[in-house]
Amino acid sequence: MKPLRVAMLGCGVVGTEVAARIVDRSEALAERIGAPLELSAVVVRDLAKARPGIDESLLTTDAETAIADADIVIELMGGIEPAKTLITAALDQGSSVVTANKALLAAHYGELMSAADRASVRLEHEAAVAGAIPIIRPVGDSLAGDRIDRIMGIVNGTTNYILDQMDSEGWDFDRALSTAQELGYAEADPTADVGGHDAAAKAAILSSLAFHAPVSSDDVHVEGIEGISAEMVATAKDQGFVIKLLAVCERVAESPAGPGLSARVYPALLRRSHPLASVRGAFNAVFIEAEAAGELMFYGQGAGGAPTASAVLGDVVSVARRRVLGGRGQYERPFHEDSRILPISAITTRYHITLDVVDRPGVLAAVSEVFADEGASIELMRQTVGEVDEDEMQHAKLVLATHSNTEAALARTVERLGDLDVVRAVSSVIRVEGQ
Ligand code: NAP
Repeated sequence: MKPLRVAMLGCGVVGTEVAARIVDRSEALAERIGAPLELSAVVVRDLAKARPGIDESLLTTDAETAIADADIVIELMGGIEPAKTLITAALDQGSSVVTANKALLAAHYGELMSAADRASVRLEHEAAVAGAIPIIRPVGDSLAGDRIDRIMGIVNGTTNYILDQMDSEGWDFDRALSTAQELGYAEADPTADVGGHDAAAKAAILSSLAFHAPVSSDDVHVEGIEGISAEMVATAKDQGFVIKLLAVCERVAESPAGPGLSARVYPALLRRSHPLASVRGAFNAVFIEAEAAGELMFYGQGAGGAPTASAVLGDVVSVARRRVLGGRGQYERPFHEDSRILPISAITTRYHITLDVVDRPGVLAAVSEVFADEGASIELMRQTVGEVDEDEMQHAKLVLATHSNTEAALARTVERLGDLDVVRAVSSVIRVEGQ
């Protein structure tokens, strides 16, 4: 069979591993595809950079010519532009595209899928969410006959490593972050990871796919882990919980704003018995609740050159096979354009609130009154004696676990608790997820 020509845009952490495997595993790949793959061009920015293992004659900065000559284009440069223009050009000319670009898909998912559909070619993106973990195909294809109600994922390895070190070693946030940077788990500028933005892009892609709705990063409510202290982690541990940065994608049947969808990223407490609580280090996992399938969990390495290359190559084999067999390309499932993304205030959650209070009679009554006024209720209250302050006043730590209520009611409750005379400080507020 005639070889399929593959142009690769970008040859960094992931691209280097993909290129090496296309060459080293050429026989096995050809057997699986039914035709050999031929790496026809590797597009980079800087031709002078040393790239061990890459055939120098393939390197070019001319992306347009590389694409024009290719049956399959692998986009591994990242960012919105020029990646978007180049992917669109490849799709328009009838080439299949494989990308790992979460930022681009989270911003332009519907538009790019329509371009693939128009051209009857595939646009595959397994590596864009949770690296090596097969999650795009299970959500988009394997569960297509079911109804996905909820997805809860640990989809950022950097933040999971940081929180895991804080939990297992008792480190504070700064020490865990600087160690993550030393080990190469965190970038020099860690904002995208610790601020929750990387996880938000993945939540947008998973929501778009699971709920057939146009969800972008801007629709995702995002809170990062910068405010998580060693004390919060220790308090959680004492109570049988662990703190994880979660991406939650949910179909909401009832809310004060009506039915809709919710996509959100925040650090939350999980019971230690929850399957996601056992996800350690920089690993990722995605927990799905579907109407007929029930609970499913997918676990593995969410980043890194080789693990991500595995997902990219799986997509390459899939699109290449389709070209060999001559199947129709993308079937663009119509988006339900009327799907409403609910504001965080309409979502029902549970809070754990830690208060620093003055230890004197009447405190519990004052706190309970605020809850009653706001229509929120307390499931559990725990008080521990704290220090004596400079005015010789005895303090106590009050940990309150709330029942489920809307974010709006809980946020108002916390604000009013902070205004009480007997409350010296609201030390922490953190949501609880999972059963
Ligand atoms: P990277 O190491 O920064 O590599 C980017 C590559 O793209 C470099 O070879 C760079 O060229 C090239 N490039 C960037 N802009 C270009 C331009 N305008 N024209 C031509 N070439 C350009 O990135 P990466 O970590 O491999 O990530 C690639 C993609 O995979 C991103 O979308 C990322 O989000 C996604 N991803 C990465 C991981 C991971 O673990 N790294 C995991 C999942 C998904 P030079 O080499 O000349 O600078």
